Amino acid sequence: MTPATTFAGRTVALFGLGGSGLVTALSLQAGGASVVACDDSPDSMARAQAQGISTGDLRDADWSGFSALILAPGVPLTHPVPHWTVGRAKAAGIEIVGDIELFCRERRRIAPGSPFVAITGTNGKSTTTALVAHVLAQAGWDVQMGGNIGTAILSLEPPSASRVHVIEMSSFQIDLTPSLDPSIGVLLNITPDHLDRHGSMENYAAIKERLIAGAALAVIGIDDAPSHAIAERCSGPLIRVHVGEVPSAFDGLSAREAAVFRAGSRIADLTEIGSLRGAHNWQNAAFAAACGEALGIDGAALQAGLRSFPGLPHRMEEVGRKGRVLFVNDSKATNADSSEKALSAFHDVHWILGGKAKEGGIAPLSPLFDRVAHAYLIGASSDAFAETLEGQVPYTRCSTLDIATKTAAEAALASDAPEPVVLLSPACASYDQFRSFEDRGDQFRALVRGLL
Ligand code: ADP
Repeated sequence: MTPATTFAGRTVALFGLGGSGLVTALSLQAGGASVVACDDSPDSMARAQAQGISTGDLRDADWSGFSALILAPGVPLTHPVPHWTVGRAKAAGIEIVGDIELFCRERRRIAPGSPFVAITGTNGKSTTTALVAHVLAQAGWDVQMGGNIGTAILSLEPPSASRVHVIEMSSFQIDLTPSLDPSIGVLLNITPDHLDRHGSMENYAAIKERLIAGAALAVIGIDDAPSHAIAERCSGPLIRVHVGEVPSAFDGLSAREAAVFRAGSRIADLTEIGSLRGAHNWQNAAFAAACGEALGIDGAALQAGLRSFPGLPHRMEEVGRKGRVLFVNDSKATNADSSEKALSAFHDVHWILGGKAKEGGIAPLSPLFDRVAHAYLIGASSDAFAETLEGQVPYTRCSTLDIATKTAAEAALASDAPEPVVLLSPACASYDQFRSFEDRGDQFRALVRGLL
């Protein structure tokens, strides 16, 4: 754990006792602060008390005694409406910060300048965070990985010059980190998302830009308009990342043809790396190359790290092979945009899709329908998707995942294509039939293992 000493000898209010809230409260207490921790859920309050965290009802509290409000990132700071604790903190004139802000202050105190890679973007955050962490660990670094990817930052070992923190950050976390100053700030991309929580695209992009503004070195994917504009405004050291061909004057990194290039030279070869299929993953590899080089990793170590990356579960995860048939779990694809990435990476696809459909359905994927040998429909979207596929892609209504997996596997095994793929990439939320996308992917993996 990293004790947060910034409020030592003072009292702070803390709201939101999920996993990171609990750790934050313990870290503040270990650092010498008094904490009044609160949550709407009585169970969370009881769990906190059982761990030795002092809890209290913040509605009844005298806020003039607090030095700060420590907020969990899931609690609305601004949109759709600020949480009531935010109003109370503002009325009391105290600052509102999150756990990553506490980490930044601790880092400046005990190990200023220690390697700290902060990664944000609309899509690809977890994959790139895991990939950067893996490449650095393989090259011998002591890597601490956390933040939005799941491990609360203050539960990690404290920063030091010989240790690198690789931290995934959501916009909500950036919003709660006013003095964010990573040694390397990575902005992957910005596309409309979570606008209900950020008000407008401009506001959303401005929050993402704050991660870059504080970074000693910025690494920016320049392929969407907001990110491109942020790179143009960036005044400090910057590495641009582009997907596709580049003019000879381009001095950043480019990802194309299953490789990463600097100018005309190939600095990483991604062919036959199953966990890095598709142009989006080539881009993620380019971000990892930029971070690795900035931390002094040589080309051979970079290549070895990329090649041994196991990938993350549920994101184009290879879950098995039978004969020539490859089985891929892409359950994280909860919208058409994500499924587009998977369909683009394969041919002869036996595509299992459906669930709780998002606006627009799968119509935007029609340019990729020629990659689909057959579609297997599950869940609530079956009628709507059948209508979109009609006359373009042969399909079977399977209703449930077990029937779909069995039917798709039989057809793929009977196919004479060189590498038929049974792909679960639902382009839908999972809630009509599953607890979560993880649950859906885990069930698919178990079904495939059963077939093998
Ligand atoms: P996040 O943590 O930002 O949600 P993930 O790494 O979990 O991102 O990937 C989620 C989905 O985003 C993937 O299944 C893929 O479809 C898509 N994706 C991954 N990397 C990128 C990228 N560099 N650009 C655009 N989309 C991406």
